[in-house]
Amino acid sequence: MFCIKCGKPAWKDNLCKECFLEKNELFSIKNSVVRIKECSCGRYFIKKWVKPKKSIIEDITNDNIKLLGDISEKSVSWKRKGNKYIVRVRAVGTIGGLQKEEEKEYIIITRKNMCDVCTKREGNYYEAQIQLRGVSLKKFFSILPKKDRDKITKLEKVRNGFNIYLSDKKMAKKIIVGMKRLNLNIKPSYKLVGMKKGRKIYRDYYSVKPLG
Ligand SMILES: [Zn+2]
Ligand SMILES: [Zn+2]
Repeated sequence: MFCIKCGKPAWKDNLCKECFLEKNELFSIKNSVVRIKECSCGRYFIKKWVKPKKSIIEDITNDNIKLLGDISEKSVSWKRKGNKYIVRVRAVGTIGGLQKEEEKEYIIITRKNMCDVCTKREGNYYEAQIQLRGVSLKKFFSILPKKDRDKITKLEKVRNGFNIYLSDKKMAKKIIVGMKRLNLNIKPSYKLVGMKKGRKIYRDYYSVKPLG
């Protein structure tokens, strides 16, 4: 048997080793151009706004490559040119039992944009307000998970305490449940702030004080 491409002795699938490696890829790039939006806070948008797990480039690259061979080593590097990132992916691995090294490039095109979290913060948007009176901020932050800190759109120092504005009612409710466990005196109230698609929209207020 001979290689159907070059005529050398065939090794597999009617191809010699060189032609087999040339034909079979370790990985492929799904999209040669990926368009994203980037916010100054570090979040980026493809289908929705997200915080990068490692970095924007590495996250997108992981989603944008399809592994075809057995990869033992992978590296990603990039160059920024204006609003473009030229991303280079290098992989080492085996395919059909043969060692191979492969390099491919794709482009990420970015556009500056404000994410939903920053838009809410900028517009002082809030769905709930927690009023701490005689209760420390430290107590509040001991309940709020770190990853949800961006739900605070404003923090205001007032006499004898703090007003904390939150962009998410459900989050506020969760915090209040946690505060109840700390034996605090909690008084909720609700204010009608408008209508949306025929439904009344309320803003939630919670006054939080020490017991007694
Ligand atoms: Zn060949
Ligand atoms: Zn942002």
